[in-house]
Amino acid sequence: MSKVKSSETVKVVVRCRPLNRKEAAGVTGTPGGRGGIVEMDVHRGQVVLRNPRALPGEPQKTFTFDSVYDASSRQRDLYDETVRPLIHSVLDGFNGTIFAYGQTGTGKTYTMQGAWLEPERRGVIPNAFEHVFTQISRSPADRQYLVRASYLEIYREEIRDLLDPNVHTPHVPNVHTQSPHTLELRESPESGVYVRDLTSCVCKSVKEIEELMNLGNQVRSVGATDMNEHSSRSHTLFLITVECSQTGPDGRQHIRVGRLNLVDLAGSERQAKTGVRGERLKEAAKINLSLSALGNVISALADGRSGHVPYRDSKLTRLLQDSLGGNAKTVMVATLGPAPQHYEETLTTLRYANRAKNIKNQPRVNEDPKDALLREFQKEIARLRAQLSHREGRGKHRKEEGEEGWDREGDEEGEEEVEKERKLQKERLEEENKAIREDGSLLAVEKQRLLGEKEIMMGDLRKERDTTEQLTAKYKAMESKLLVGGRNIMDHTSEQQKTLETRRQEIAEQSRREREILQQVMVQDEETLELRETFSSLQQEVEAKTKKLKKLYAKLQCVKAEIQDVNDEHVRSRQELEQTQNQLTRELKFKYLIIENFIPPEEKNKILNRLTLDPEEDQWKFQLLTPSESQMKKRLASAVGYKRPISQYARVALAMGAHSRYRAENILFLELDMSPPTTVSLDHWPSEVRPNCSPSPTDNAPYRERATRVRKSRSWCQAPRAITSSSSTVSLATHSTATPSTAQ
Ligand code: ADP
Ligand code: MG
Repeated sequence: MSKVKSSETVKVVVRCRPLNRKEAAGVTGTPGGRGGIVEMDVHRGQVVLRNPRALPGEPQKTFTFDSVYDASSRQRDLYDETVRPLIHSVLDGFNGTIFAYGQTGTGKTYTMQGAWLEPERRGVIPNAFEHVFTQISRSPADRQYLVRASYLEIYREEIRDLLDPNVHTPHVPNVHTQSPHTLELRESPESGVYVRDLTSCVCKSVKEIEELMNLGNQVRSVGATDMNEHSSRSHTLFLITVECSQTGPDGRQHIRVGRLNLVDLAGSERQAKTGVRGERLKEAAKINLSLSALGNVISALADGRSGHVPYRDSKLTRLLQDSLGGNAKTVMVATLGPAPQHYEETLTTLRYANRAKNIKNQPRVNEDPKDALLREFQKEIARLRAQLSHREGRGKHRKEEGEEGWDREGDEEGEEEVEKERKLQKERLEEENKAIREDGSLLAVEKQRLLGEKEIMMGDLRKERDTTEQLTAKYKAMESKLLVGGRNIMDHTSEQQKTLETRRQEIAEQSRREREILQQVMVQDEETLELRETFSSLQQEVEAKTKKLKKLYAKLQCVKAEIQDVNDEHVRSRQELEQTQNQLTRELKFKYLIIENFIPPEEKNKILNRLTLDPEEDQWKFQLLTPSESQMKKRLASAVGYKRPISQYARVALAMGAHSRYRAENILFLELDMSPPTTVSLDHWPSEVRPNCSPSPTDNAPYRERATRVRKSRSWCQAPRAITSSSSTVSLATHSTATPSTAQ
């Protein structure tokens, strides 16, 4: 069941980082001035972009967003204003997504992660961790929470599990045995698009979740480009699932599940700019492909008219399907660099962000989903508790029945009492053992029997204790994973700090509202401009209308420039796509060449017949080799008494009764006969081939043929044959007659 909330647009904010040292050295004195080419009006949420190569009179480009953060903005400002409300929604059971988009080196990772060790520079992710656990600790005590985390990256269109336990060698930090597993995307009507077999870890505290993040970051794919030394070469997604159970007005427990996706995208730069080649270029091609797929999805959604949204074009867009046009609340942080040399990229990012503003989502609370882990935990905890109390009850029952050795007093309850009881039983049994041993009146056999009985009882007692201990440990471990509102996590913040936090929140909310009102006023101003004007004289009317005409003309110029820009952009991206296509075609030709020339056609056909396309994964896959019944060659039934079928030849040989050295293997003797030398005494040459008339090679052929070494095979069943040593002269004659009889 889910409550539908009215639709809301994707929240888009823009952040510009300060000029770095390299850029600052180049920028001074350029048209961009000291601050570069980006100017921001924080109160109105406007960004003005200056073209460093602008022609005189060319208008500047202005964009309006939900919020803008200039170079002097702090991490906290962005968090309080933009992210905090989203985290609250997630705790209330909504799905939420924050993704950072922008050119490499503009501060996506800085915004999402920041500097973990410096409180002032901590990014969205560490602040969100703290926020989630603090909120849980401050929530009412009747709520139970279960927090889970997963971490994955999309590298070259493959999904990798960054928390895969096989990747992280236990107890040896920073040592990774293998690269992360590649996972598949699946879709179900209940939970939408999800990653199959993705590792998900239950976290009880900020420390635990931070450790997970660190672990994942160690295996994340990063590489240096000309624009950023530690450029992220993959898209990463950190997923936090918060399940909350609470007693509803109907007196029953209800579970709400909120999922928070924290996405740090790889850079959207042009390939030429990053100076990448080889493997990095291939990465860039994949990054650009998935980002252009993201762009297409955003365009299709923003347009609102096109029925088809190409989510399936890339893994990234499929994973973000819920976040873009789905049931999530989404925040996009577009990051900019102020350097004039990146004007085109900055403009592209702004356009991208501008389009994303129009995407409408339908966020709704996920209530009582079937796959809630919290419910399973609660069931398991209840089962363990029942088992434990049953054991306690059994102990008491035994005592009441007055079994031998169980006569104890008291009516205690609880774990400690049970433990005490067990201890007493043990002591009693030991005492009785001792008494039996010391009792001289008992026969030795009788003594042995009684001691044996007591030993069995001691064993039972031990077994019972071990099982109860195991159950208790399991019960405690499971219960500790559930966070109870206001109890499990100690909130060390003082009242003063809490008030400060609330105050900051209020200020953020107020400035957001002010900005919204300002933006509305701006829009209304434009619309009502014409309505307000009344003129007292013709001259005044001419002036006013000239002014308006100028304004409209400027607007027209802006739109024209915009169209030109969009065209240029289109041409550029087409060229880039063509370039990528050419490269791929070249690679394809190379592979074709190898296949056509070095793989036999029948093998190629066999392989082709086995390949099938998996539309879900968009991958070619090999069919499993399971031959049909008719194709399966039946193994010949073995001849009775033999290990395996035996050939006719071997059968005959066997009948002849030769030695059986190689009988089992059916091996043939291959023996090189000592053949006679090919030299011939001249005396025996026929007169017509005497040396004075040198013989032609063909004339000599019969002799040579006869003299050719003969390689004879002999089966294991043949009797060893004495090798005749032959002299050069007789060999020709004798050999010619001997050969037919010996050769097989
Ligand atoms: P991206 O992830 O977009 O490729 P990074 O986040 O790695 O870029 O940022 C590149 C560099 O710029 C880093 O050294 C980072 O510290 C710095 N940086 C980015 N944004 C800011 C900012 N708002 N304030 C200060 N430094 C920043
Ligand atoms: Mg990065």
